[in-house]
Amino acid sequence: MSPRTWPVDWEDRRAGKDCEFCAESDAAVDRNGNVRVFEGELSTAYLHRLAPQPGLVSVRWRGRHVADPCDMGEHEAAGFWSEVMHVARAVHRVFEPCQLNYDILGNSVPHVHTNLICRYLDDPSPGTPIRPWVLREVPPTDLAAQAERLRRAMSTTT
Ligand SMILES: [Zn+2]
Repeated sequence: MSPRTWPVDWEDRRAGKDCEFCAESDAAVDRNGNVRVFEGELSTAYLHRLAPQPGLVSVRWRGRHVADPCDMGEHEAAGFWSEVMHVARAVHRVFEPCQLNYDILGNSVPHVHTNLICRYLDDPSPGTPIRPWVLREVPPTDLAAQAERLRRAMSTTT
């Protein structure tokens, strides 16, 4: 067997130890400066302060620690996905991407969340995931304005 490359505490983190999403499930602004734009029955969504291009939103499962969608009940999984769609419709309306990517990776924070990644006709990786993944800071005034537009869009979508 090759040498282990994943963190030594990976299994503990998957089990919920020191999970930042559990700790911040109700934060208006999380530890990374991401701004909450949606509170659903099963999820909370944040517009990211650091993003490769405008409109990165994460929809995070809330209520208890769950590392893999397979660990949700069927009703929970359907409800979570419904809330992801609710947020995604608003992202489409506000940012008008040419394509929206739905990433459910959990490789850095092993708590179920879906990253909604806007793709644009002039982005650097047509036809593939964005590479390189270079994060740029969204200016605070832009972030606040985008967050408000997302909230308004969600108040008028179903
Ligand atoms: Zn968690």
